[in-house]
Amino acid sequence: MAETITKRADDYAQWYQDVIRAAKLAETSPVRGSMVLPPNGYELWENMQGALDRMFKATGHRNAYFPLFIPKSFLAREAEHVEGFAKECAVVTHYRLKEEDGDLIVDPDAELDEPLVVRPTSETIIWDTYSRWIQSWRDLPVLINQWANVVRWEMRTRLFLRTAEFLWQEGHTAHATEQEAVDETRQMLDVYATFAEEWMAMPVVRGVKTAAERFPGAVDTYCIEALMQDGKALQAGTSHFLGQNFARAFDCTFQNQDNEAEYVWATSWGVSTRLIGALIMTHGDDAGVIMPPKLAPVQVAIVPITRKNGDNEAVLDAAREMRDALLADGVRVVLDDRDQYRPGWKFAQYEVEGVPVRLAVGPRDVENGTAELARRDTGDKSPVPQRGIAGAVRTALHEVQQALYDRAAAFRREHTHVVDSYERFQEVMEAGGFALMHWDGTPETEARVKDEAKATIRCVPFPGQFPGVDTDEPGTDPVSGAPSAGRVVYARAY
Ligand code: AMP
Repeated sequence: MAETITKRADDYAQWYQDVIRAAKLAETSPVRGSMVLPPNGYELWENMQGALDRMFKATGHRNAYFPLFIPKSFLAREAEHVEGFAKECAVVTHYRLKEEDGDLIVDPDAELDEPLVVRPTSETIIWDTYSRWIQSWRDLPVLINQWANVVRWEMRTRLFLRTAEFLWQEGHTAHATEQEAVDETRQMLDVYATFAEEWMAMPVVRGVKTAAERFPGAVDTYCIEALMQDGKALQAGTSHFLGQNFARAFDCTFQNQDNEAEYVWATSWGVSTRLIGALIMTHGDDAGVIMPPKLAPVQVAIVPITRKNGDNEAVLDAAREMRDALLADGVRVVLDDRDQYRPGWKFAQYEVEGVPVRLAVGPRDVENGTAELARRDTGDKSPVPQRGIAGAVRTALHEVQQALYDRAAAFRREHTHVVDSYERFQEVMEAGGFALMHWDGTPETEARVKDEAKATIRCVPFPGQFPGVDTDEPGTDPVSGAPSAGRVVYARAY
């Protein structure tokens, strides 16, 4: 029978783990920080990929692939980049094992001339490539995305949110002018925000990171930040304006229209399987996951109410007809006619897995020409006619998608506070949520708050995102007493 799930109010972190296990989204593996993704988790990622990929292509990007292994010397070329990533690199030094005294050992005679870094991100190998691809202004812009896995040897790992190996996409673009690169960085942040809100039903704040939180090697890091149900923030995606740093490091120049050599301007941007963690912690409830319909691997589960050794043909026929109608309409539907499981067990399992709409059909429904439609988000059940089932299901899926967004947006509103004293700030951080507080712009104040309140500046928000609050209005930083140019978003974070 269904596994027990810890209540969110009792232990949120345990709830998160329980839900992932019970919904079969991921498993730990023998290697710390590496996940197995069973179909429920992987298909969710595939659906995310599909939607994002279409958006990338609609904005002119093409997919390409670059190698997993990067010569160690490449990492060293950009000073800040290597400093940021050196601490978490997996390095390959040998290429052979051999048996010795019944043991399998690394063959000392098979040492590589140059160690290879397993990519933690691909700027270095890509800018090495771009230095060959780009000669003249006619070769620009270069708009490339890669879908891949990367490895960052994280010390504290948590399924999806922070793993040692994760799946992601990384966009890498090259431009003739600074303005064009900045526009690209902002455009891709907008793509991420649209994806988060319209597909994941997860409201996000858009903004720019402080210097302390910037990507190693970037001039500016833009981000989307989401608020999880436990009041902690999660960085859900980043878009970096890299200036000419990588072009300089990899000697990537182009002849401009006046025939002068110039360094190329760069961006990079990425989202990862962390988004699955974000989705779970935005929408899940004590019974399990709730999948936003637009991304759900299974949007509708049909459960026929059959009796053991009974005559179930009429019920199964009705169920098959509905399945076929839904398939023909492009709905991701399963008909669960396995008779080794009872209907009640199936109901519980689809609830845990977060299937947004369930249809049940039994003998009385067959007589009435109806089915029972149940919504995962509210638990509401209502009879719907079997004829025209696709229309009723489409409407329900649409309603669930909208309701999930509305609920998450309401939660965020209730947990976003305008704060003008450090004391109140500490209270808000203890309770969880976003605090919109003035910041004097110094790394000292930022570090002090991090140390004392365990909270970080999630971003300096773009204007106009919090109704009734002008975050760009100058004021006073309550921590230091110094003047401030505006309010920033503080929170405790994953
Ligand atoms: P970055 O290259 O550091 O800007 O990260 C790009 C994207 O990957 C961001 O959306 C991060 O949230 C995500 N990310 C970074 N580190 C991890 C990790 N260890 N596990 C999962 N996702 C990550």
